[in-house]
Amino acid sequence: MNFLEERIVKDGIITEGNVLKVDSFLNHQMDIQLFDQIGAEFKRRFEEKPINKILTIEASGIGIACVAAQHFKVPVVFAKKTQSINLEGEMYVAEVESFTHRCKNQVIVSQKFLSEDDHVLIIDDFLANGCALQGLIQIVQSAGATVEGIGIVIEKGFQAGGSIIRNLGYQLESLAIVDAMDEKTGTFVFREQK
Ligand code: 5GP
Repeated sequence: MNFLEERIVKDGIITEGNVLKVDSFLNHQMDIQLFDQIGAEFKRRFEEKPINKILTIEASGIGIACVAAQHFKVPVVFAKKTQSINLEGEMYVAEVESFTHRCKNQVIVSQKFLSEDDHVLIIDDFLANGCALQGLIQIVQSAGATVEGIGIVIEKGFQAGGSIIRNLGYQLESLAIVDAMDEKTGTFVFREQK
């Protein structure tokens, strides 16, 4: 088990509806030393890529992206969630369905902060059905920028997002892939990775 899998086993809580709660270390209380290890591992996995910007989505991606950015020495842009407003022309807009909150949001990024010159690493905390990532990819494409890779902290391998995104041809690196989890016993099965 890697450092993250060990932490998931120790502190992750499996709740109803296949939701994994990791709010004691990842997305409510944040363990910054763990974030630093996560950032270093993303840097190692994307070492060869000419990344000049990190893109994430509010709220829980922001902390991870910021700590990772220290390793890449690049700025972070986060997509803002908003209820339908018409800002086309100034903003890149994508529609994202939330897995945890079961609602649709528009996500927006100002055109000032993403352009065709950018080589983007997309970072997020979870990958489930892939809606958040598809929205972020759409925003990068609208800007004419390049997706150099996608870094995910926890992928839920039993949901469709991972294969959808890999089939699109992107380098998707998930630091832990949970292939199964059992609410009754509190146990996890992780996918073996190199
Ligand atoms: P997707 O768009 O891939 O279906 O879901 C990704 C988003 O939903 C992530 O940004 C994350 O915030 C949230 N999410 C999905 N599954 C889980 C989960 O099991 N636990 C937590 N805490 N968040 C999740």
